Amino acid sequence: MKDVAILGGGIAGMATAARLQAAGLTTEVFEAHGRVGGCAGYFRQRGFSFDVGATTLVDFESGGVGGELLESIGMSPLSGEALPGYVAWLPDRTVTLYRDQHLWAHERLEKLGSSAAHQRLWALLDQLACVFWEASRKGIHLPLQTVGDVLNAVRCVGLSHLHLTRYMLFSMGDILNTFTLRDDLALCALLSMLIEDTVHSHIDHAPLINAALGITIRGAGLTRHSGGMYGFWKRFVEHFKGLGGVLHVSCKIEHVQKYGDGYEVYTSQGVFGARQVVSALPLPVTAAVAPSIVGRQLAYYLKRDEQSLGGAAVVFLGVSDSEVAGQSFTHHQLLQTYDAPLGDGNNMFVSVSAAGDTLSSPAGYRSVMISTHCAIEDWEHCSPTDYEAQRRAYGDRLVNYARRVYPNLATNPLVYEIGTPQTYAHFTGRPRGAVGGVKQTLSNTNQNAVPNDIGAKGFWLVGDGTWPGLGTVACVLGSRVVAEAVQRQHRLVKSSHTTKGKHHE
Ligand SMILES: Cc1cc2nc3c(=O)[nH]c(=O)nc-3n(C[C@H](O)[C@H](O)[C@H](O)COP(=O)(O)OP(=O)(O)OC[C@H]3O[C@@H](n4cnc5c(N)ncnc54)[C@H](O)[C@@H]3O)c2cc1C
Repeated sequence: MKDVAILGGGIAGMATAARLQAAGLTTEVFEAHGRVGGCAGYFRQRGFSFDVGATTLVDFESGGVGGELLESIGMSPLSGEALPGYVAWLPDRTVTLYRDQHLWAHERLEKLGSSAAHQRLWALLDQLACVFWEASRKGIHLPLQTVGDVLNAVRCVGLSHLHLTRYMLFSMGDILNTFTLRDDLALCALLSMLIEDTVHSHIDHAPLINAALGITIRGAGLTRHSGGMYGFWKRFVEHFKGLGGVLHVSCKIEHVQKYGDGYEVYTSQGVFGARQVVSALPLPVTAAVAPSIVGRQLAYYLKRDEQSLGGAAVVFLGVSDSEVAGQSFTHHQLLQTYDAPLGDGNNMFVSVSAAGDTLSSPAGYRSVMISTHCAIEDWEHCSPTDYEAQRRAYGDRLVNYARRVYPNLATNPLVYEIGTPQTYAHFTGRPRGAVGGVKQTLSNTNQNAVPNDIGAKGFWLVGDGTWPGLGTVACVLGSRVVAEAVQRQHRLVKSSHTTKGKHHE
């Protein structure tokens, strides 16, 4: 019997497993797909590797949330392209989203307005980002469930910054209205794009602090690993196994039940015992397979959030260098028009593998991923013929939009694949193909988020459905919170066994 069974080998599950294994517990990961990664996974075709969702790892440098993960499991730093930023293509201008704070401070005033109101808005966002990125790096944990959580939050935020926690009650829309900037078209369009990508929600409803963290995410450092997520996972899995961790792939969880002091995990490869369980599965899957107490606790959240789910579509291209020539940045975010809602290509991300990254593509070629948000409903209940026609037309539309940046893109592609919510449902086990966490609002995040401790002893939740939500950095922070809780429980059980043993003597 292992100390901990980890259900699901996405980034949240693998990060939690590696932390626990490195801390001396025995762990076993169960992943339904043939390889790890989930929504931060990859596939390979004709010598190219493509990132199926996340292309960049956030805050993985020393001292960062991801950097702390690598240090705590004894893994060497990432090797790849540390992005100097990326370019946002608005309908009437481009804005370079520099990582460098001085360049960015200058660019935003020059391209987006420099009135006193603009400067006050940026000053507030910078202050919130600075304090709450630091709090994340120190291991802040929400929702607050115990006195220990409250003390930890005070330590992470710092007494001198506690007054800023009042902004947890504000939305981004509230602050834009306060500064009378809500009608500034270009500013709000750019903020909306950054917020949709990181917090998934509309600018008016996004919680202010979460939005401030999302808007400044590139300041925390974005890295595309050499070979993309393929290169990252190759190293990570090797390291996890080197620590003694056990990974079962093509191993679907069927159900989990309480057994004595621990749990029995029923899978397509047999039954496994564990003292504790960490579920890093999508929440509806956890609710379906976990002991009934977990399902009952999750029912409230699943019902509350069922209208707040979103999907994504991605085009994967394998192209020659000449088709992506002429740009110094490898990542671009595009808005086609100010007059339509975001999604379906109106706000899309174009990621190109770095020149010379031959783990991502054959020499002389590059991997390109074009991703956008979409509504999951639009891809449901179609006939196979309609679905195929919609998929093809959608892919061509995204490629055409991307030709604003790369006019020759996909003129002669070696690979041209299109992923939709149905693809995510099939390959990553996401019910209905909903990806990321919920669209975050004041009523479903932070103190109202799905907690990692759902109230079943020794059964924990992690991943982008739980606090702090979506994205690799959030999942990695969640893995730290959960790994610490699992270790506390492990020590508690061990010491009670020792005490019982002593009484026996
Ligand atoms: C298009 C797109 C672009 C993105 N871009 C970025 C980015 O650039 N940077 C960033 O930080 N984030 C990005 N994200 C978000 C990020 O990829 C996700 O938030 C994160 O990967 C979620 O990880 P997870 O471990 O919580 O869940 P998942 O990745 O969904 O992992 C869950 C795992 O459980 C497995 N599973 C499901 N059911 C079962 C079962 N019954 N038995 C066993 N296993 C099962 C799945 O196969 C999967 O591997 C992007 C997401 C998308 C979709």
